Amino acid sequence: MSTETRTSIVWDYAPAPESSDHIRLNDRYGVFIDGEFRDPASGRYVPTINPATEQPIAEVADGGPDDVIAAVEAARSAYPKWAALKDLERAKYLFRIARLIQERSRELAVVETMDGGKPLRESRDVDIPLAAAHFFYYAGWADKLRYGVAAREVAPLGVVGQIVPWNFPLLMAAWKLAPALACGNVAILKPAETTPLTALLLAEICQEAELPPGVVSILPGNGDTGAALVRQNKIDKIAFTGSTAVGRDIQAALAGTNTRLTLELGGKSANIVFEDAALDQAVEGIVNGIFFNQGHVCCAGSRLLIQESVREEVIAKLWRRMGLLRVGDPMDKNTDVGAINSAEQLERIETLVAAGEDEGASRRTIECELPARGYWFAPTLFTDVSPAHRIAVEEIFGPVVSVLTFRTQAEAIERANNSRYGLAAGIWTDKGAKAFEVASALNAGVVWQNTYNHFDPTAAFGGYKESGFGREGGPAGLRPYLRVIR
Ligand code: NDP
Repeated sequence: MSTETRTSIVWDYAPAPESSDHIRLNDRYGVFIDGEFRDPASGRYVPTINPATEQPIAEVADGGPDDVIAAVEAARSAYPKWAALKDLERAKYLFRIARLIQERSRELAVVETMDGGKPLRESRDVDIPLAAAHFFYYAGWADKLRYGVAAREVAPLGVVGQIVPWNFPLLMAAWKLAPALACGNVAILKPAETTPLTALLLAEICQEAELPPGVVSILPGNGDTGAALVRQNKIDKIAFTGSTAVGRDIQAALAGTNTRLTLELGGKSANIVFEDAALDQAVEGIVNGIFFNQGHVCCAGSRLLIQESVREEVIAKLWRRMGLLRVGDPMDKNTDVGAINSAEQLERIETLVAAGEDEGASRRTIECELPARGYWFAPTLFTDVSPAHRIAVEEIFGPVVSVLTFRTQAEAIERANNSRYGLAAGIWTDKGAKAFEVASALNAGVVWQNTYNHFDPTAAFGGYKESGFGREGGPAGLRPYLRVIR
């Protein structure tokens, strides 16, 4: 067979849908306070929607200020006993939660995909295993806390309020809860309005693990619920992940108070490809960097910086690879790019993409058949982008990559740092010394070399500049949940 004939074979995938028959969801979920689900004080419930079908999945309580007060009271009364528990006993609860997440992993993955639109392959292989790994990892720290803080004597902070976004709902809940609990704090978690379900299943897991009532409360609701939690003056610390705009509002609200704060905000991360990189490998990393989770990733490699000498080659390879991405039903195990999380997020992406075109960048979007219902945006590549274009400056939070070029290493560093954000970066090069030199010159909390979007509970994650402050993961992730006594 000639090469031409061989390469013209079209391999079609048969549908490979995951079943949802095995999941047991209630029709309604209340707020989870003092170890039990209860109706929200307002009595209000709102449906949570599957963004791939626009069908309601379940009704979820709209927690309000009175529920915040009740959760804080329950947390306050649970705190002394939890903080005084022997370290190893506390660890046991975290190990139990980790094991239960593993046991219910298939169900959690399906619910995460239904509620948020991400491909099942990602919720099954990334979100849920990493969530369990975070609980395992911090369970191991519970009796070694002083070694995480330079052998100083430490104590927990008390009641912590934690607000998480919709892009990695269970994983972000695990990033927040596991270190807080391991350090002896009690926590009130506010999941995002569009993706509350796995946090509510985690509440069930806390019950199954026999976690003492009040140690974890889950308060579904909207932005107002989050704002009420932030302004509750009996909370010792707020940990927030989300947009820079809301982060700014929270910081202003807490200025001058005794409440500690850590913020994990947005990003516009540079993925830098040098001419000496293994280009095929780099293209895989670019695809993973921006199309993983539909680009709904705070550290997404959304600014692609390519050395001019390999610009054409990289773009050609990338465009070809993008054409192979399978966009559609997130429940299909072959899907690479699922649904956009909400109608609002789709609108934001469309607005910024239109701005890119208006400002003169060249847009290419892959051709693919999109489902008739649901929220979709096909993978998109912008070239002829100038550093001042909105698509090079603002976080799009969608499957859209903007290509910029550079000539020298110094120019790559300057361009990568030319952002108000400083969350992450990628470096693709064959030269180890160059990678280290560039990494140390970058203003980014996380720098990946010859890989991208690689997460591990043992590694710290967090930003500089408008990407926030404080670290999550690794020993550094203990520090924001501890007071150093001496
Ligand atoms: P938000 O920052 O609004 O939401 C994050 C979390 O904060 C959610 O739980 C949200 O609740 C809650 N929240 C909203 N308003 C307040 C408030 N005033 N006080 C306290 N908590 C609040 O993100 P969006 O969902 O609106 O997304 C907007 C943009 O933010 C995205 O396009 C993206 O650019 C960026 N983003 C960045 C993330 C990151 O990981 N860095 C994650 C998510 C978004 P609710 O969902 O119920 O409104």
